[in-house]
Amino acid sequence: MPDWRRGRRIAHTAGPVSTAAQKPKWKPRLLTAVGAAALAILVTLSGLTAPLDAWIYDRLVLGASPDPDPGIVVIDVDQKSLAELGRWPWSRRTHAQLVDRLRLTEVKGIAFNVLLSEPALFDPEGDALLARAISRSGRVVLPVLAEPVQLNSSTVELMPIPEFAASAASLGHAEMALDDDGVARSAYLRAGLGSPHWPALALALLQLDQPAGAGGHLPGRRLAATGLETASPYEWVRDYEVLVPFASPPNAFRHVSYTDVLNQRIPASLLRGNWIIVGVSATGMGPLARAPGQSPTASMSGTDYQANLLNMLLKRAAITPMSEGWQAVLAALLAALPLLLSLLPGLRRIWRPTVLTMVGTLVLSVLLLRYGHAWFSPVPALLVLALGASLWVYRLLRRTHHQAQSDALTGLANRNRFDHALDHELRIARRTGQPLSLLVMDIDHFKQLNDTQGHAAGDGALKALGRILRSRARRPRDLVARLGGDEFAVLLPETSAQAAATIATTIHVDLANHGRKPHGANAGAPPPFTASVGIHTYVSGDDAGPEDVFDRADAALYRAKQAGRNRSFSHTGEHEPVGSPVQRT
Ligand code: GH3
Ligand code: MG
Repeated sequence: MPDWRRGRRIAHTAGPVSTAAQKPKWKPRLLTAVGAAALAILVTLSGLTAPLDAWIYDRLVLGASPDPDPGIVVIDVDQKSLAELGRWPWSRRTHAQLVDRLRLTEVKGIAFNVLLSEPALFDPEGDALLARAISRSGRVVLPVLAEPVQLNSSTVELMPIPEFAASAASLGHAEMALDDDGVARSAYLRAGLGSPHWPALALALLQLDQPAGAGGHLPGRRLAATGLETASPYEWVRDYEVLVPFASPPNAFRHVSYTDVLNQRIPASLLRGNWIIVGVSATGMGPLARAPGQSPTASMSGTDYQANLLNMLLKRAAITPMSEGWQAVLAALLAALPLLLSLLPGLRRIWRPTVLTMVGTLVLSVLLLRYGHAWFSPVPALLVLALGASLWVYRLLRRTHHQAQSDALTGLANRNRFDHALDHELRIARRTGQPLSLLVMDIDHFKQLNDTQGHAAGDGALKALGRILRSRARRPRDLVARLGGDEFAVLLPETSAQAAATIATTIHVDLANHGRKPHGANAGAPPPFTASVGIHTYVSGDDAGPEDVFDRADAALYRAKQAGRNRSFSHTGEHEPVGSPVQRT
């Protein structure tokens, strides 16, 4: 048995074509970089990622929770106090007693987070006592609240009654800024009706100590137009937006019961020299919110919110959210970065810079939050990078799929794809009653050609035959395959035996013409060679399977080889080659 009969069913492909050395084309990469940057800007400005931004912020900020300052004490109007002192609201005389008690223990300052916007109708004396106690202390700050009078109507500022407002050391707004998901993440260090004239309550308290300096160097994102009176006088205007790093849990501060302080049941040392925040904590009596990362069932009182604000200000830990403009610019740079990096040697394969940039984006966001006290959401940049990575993986899969189906040397279909196509076309032929022709061919004395002219010349011959076959099988469903080694197949759907024989003949002619070219002049051109062809045509009514069809064409090829090579045989008869066989020298 000649060499060409052995192992011919085994698909043979040369090694994969190396792409590592290919230089990236910088123009399309630059264009894609611009596209990625534009998409990142669009995603940032659209605000579509807000829920994801919040989710990732809640996780990252937990790692930056500051310790609760031991100098902050929260005095709670709690269930115990209500049980002992009676139903809320209490007489103003009680509050006056508490304020006096705190003054005597020499506390640093008192944020009295209880709304005192109505005079006590039946006890004006009580109001006067409280006003005097507040005045004597000189270190009490009182809250102002923004409240819509009715739903959807204009906002009013609920101020303490003039007597209290006049005696207080300062006033501060007690707004608890809630996001759409009910979580309190931020605070506005200044806010007010028409203009942001009130400091936040905790800030007002702190400013008792630093009356001049603190106002000038407030942290936070500026929101109100400075100097320009653009806001409506009925609008609640906010400024100096900060994100609050809450203590974990948010009520981790020292808490004492109102009644225990009033009745001197706790040591004065616990209060002396400390910041005091008085407020309602009993459930159902005050505004509640959730801190970032808290479970939906947990809650934080407005008083604890102010304690956290004070803690943040004392520790200079306020987080400033980056402005939308800067967020967009940074996201755009990060989204475009992998494509720009891929122009550098060593990072050419795009997945490396993409993965590096994704990790870098997350690290940058964490570092900015921890050490830069700034919040940059990594989500828009990560989304664009992930989209790019998915597109890259998709393209890679498609290319891999294509490579798995084709022969690397000639670019023709490989054995695997040929087998599938034969099976598929045979089924169609059976259903439609159309003929299906198959040409199987093998180069003559190819071993010899390889041995005398070298492997490169052999490869050139394989490619040349591939080109000839492709030029002769041009219908959309025609398939040319390299089955392995020097063996090829041409599958011709809806092609009669007569037409297949004609095509085989033209192939012989093409090969002969190819052999007549002046090869000496062109050193790279493959040497002349011939091939033998076996043809079988499936016709309607035959119940042959794909294996049978192939075997019949193969048997015909065997006969063509036996009969002297450089000719075609069909399963039913011989077609002598047109033109004289190429003479070897
Ligand atoms: P025959 O006319 O009987 O077919 O003789 P032959 O020498 O062509 O015999 P056969 O078909 O068995 O030879 C196959 C040879 O093809 C063996 C091997 O040297 C060569 N070959 C197989 N694959 C490749 C390839 O990818 N490149 C090159 N250059 N040669 C190959
Ligand atoms: Mg051969």
